[in-house]
Amino acid sequence: MSETPDAELEDRVIQWLDGRTDALSESLRELVDAPSGPHERDGQRACLELLVRRWRRIGFRTEILEAAAGLGHLVAHRPAEVPDAPKVLLLGHLDTVFDQSAGFVGMHRVGEWLAGPGVADMKGGLVVARAVVESLLVAGQAGAIDWTLLVTSDEEIGSPTSRSIVERTAAGRDLVLCFEPGRSGFAVVDGRAGVAAFSVAFHGRAAHAGVDPERGRNAIVAAAAFAVEVGSIADAGQGTLVSVGTISGGSKRNVVPELCRLELDARAQSAAEAERVVAAVQALASDVGARHEVRAEVRGGFHRPPWPRDPHGPHAHFAAVAKDLGMPLPAVTTGGGSDANLAASAGAPTLDGLGPVGFGMHSTEERIERHTLVERAKLIALALLRFRPQPHPEA
Ligand SMILES: [Zn+2]
Repeated sequence: MSETPDAELEDRVIQWLDGRTDALSESLRELVDAPSGPHERDGQRACLELLVRRWRRIGFRTEILEAAAGLGHLVAHRPAEVPDAPKVLLLGHLDTVFDQSAGFVGMHRVGEWLAGPGVADMKGGLVVARAVVESLLVAGQAGAIDWTLLVTSDEEIGSPTSRSIVERTAAGRDLVLCFEPGRSGFAVVDGRAGVAAFSVAFHGRAAHAGVDPERGRNAIVAAAAFAVEVGSIADAGQGTLVSVGTISGGSKRNVVPELCRLELDARAQSAAEAERVVAAVQALASDVGARHEVRAEVRGGFHRPPWPRDPHGPHAHFAAVAKDLGMPLPAVTTGGGSDANLAASAGAPTLDGLGPVGFGMHSTEERIERHTLVERAKLIALALLRFRPQPHPEA
């Protein structure tokens, strides 16, 4: 997967990036100043326009794919200038989990930290991605790669409108780099659990609780039995988790409840476990329904397929480059899903967690280690300079 490094060229890239910390911080501030929480239409549009301008400036042709309700996903392409160049996808999202109403707005520097909504997840990563391409452009090497950038606007709500776009765009790439936040100790992410959301409803029969209770079929009692028993589907040894997150049902104290719903979260590390969980949830719901004479209805499933760690994946190449830079590059797997799950499931060699090292994601503690903006860019730029696609195993 590697090519003999050209030390003089690499030094040029490193030196250019070394002086960029202030500039990258500033460009991050501009992105954070356009709040892009789930209900921030104006901020999301401002973010999108800012990104379009920035990527056009370094030679990308941009296109906005319409998403729901006036939102858009950005796809940008910069064709290679040499034949047989590696096809690389830079993958990110511009939405955050924060609406301005929560009061967590703007970027602040606190010592060696930058804090603010989305600095880690993942506007910092978007800044790193662009710095990588610009550094290679300055060194005259950007044309050696066929670049595609995809920045979606609904990752934080499970990618409902971008899922197929991510899969389609990732398919056939030699490398997908996903810019979710880096982890403590400069770690990257090379595997993620599959994530499922289920909605399970029990439909009973209403009746007066004091006059003719025997006519009723109690949906809450059925749902409660299901909630207690569903834990048995989990398998700690395999990393399979199942958790009831919400339950709601009934209408009045003196009415046998007709309807009760639960929301269920599940995580699985392998496709086989994901399949087992889906079948087991369905089977348990039917069984409980039959026992309580209520009708069970299961919706949902895995919206992020499991991304199991691949020992032949891109991490080893990046770790070798990091070693030459005098940095460690541990890899971790996580129970949280991202668009990298979708890219990996499309068969593309994928590495995630390439954004600056972040802490407190999805909370008002969200922050990044400021110097890692440049450290990450150096690592990725050099890894790409040395990158040669592996032949596909089935070829
Ligand atoms: Zn994210």
